[in-house]
Amino acid sequence: MNATDIIKKAGLKITPQRKIVYEAIAELKHAAIDTIIAKVQESNPDITISTIYRILDSFYKADILSQVNHPNDGKTYYDITPIPHHHIFEGQKIIDYSDPKLTELIRRYLKEGAFETENIDKIQVQIIINPIKSD
Ligand SMILES: [Zn+2]
Repeated sequence: MNATDIIKKAGLKITPQRKIVYEAIAELKHAAIDTIIAKVQESNPDITISTIYRILDSFYKADILSQVNHPNDGKTYYDITPIPHHHIFEGQKIIDYSDPKLTELIRRYLKEGAFETENIDKIQVQIIINPIKSD
């Protein structure tokens, strides 16, 4: 699906600005807001920062994007993949890690253990790989 179809399917009106912002994050995959702003304004300096904030917020609320917190810098990153998935953090790099078996394993483990609830909304594992230290 292209940007237009995804935006339309989420029930949002298509605007040129929305398309540009979506395409920028689609290329970045995971990006902090300042990176998205820089990318958008690089070729579209007329799109204001507040417009970009507003568009990202509407995308997030419409479930077109998700968010992930980077454990290394504590920043929130927008994530082009809205469906639940795990992440591998390697330095500043964020790599998607999809593993339904792992998710199911954790869900079952929690349900059978101390966590007796059916209401687990999201299981997201963060795997942090330490950079090789040279000393
Ligand atoms: Zn991701």
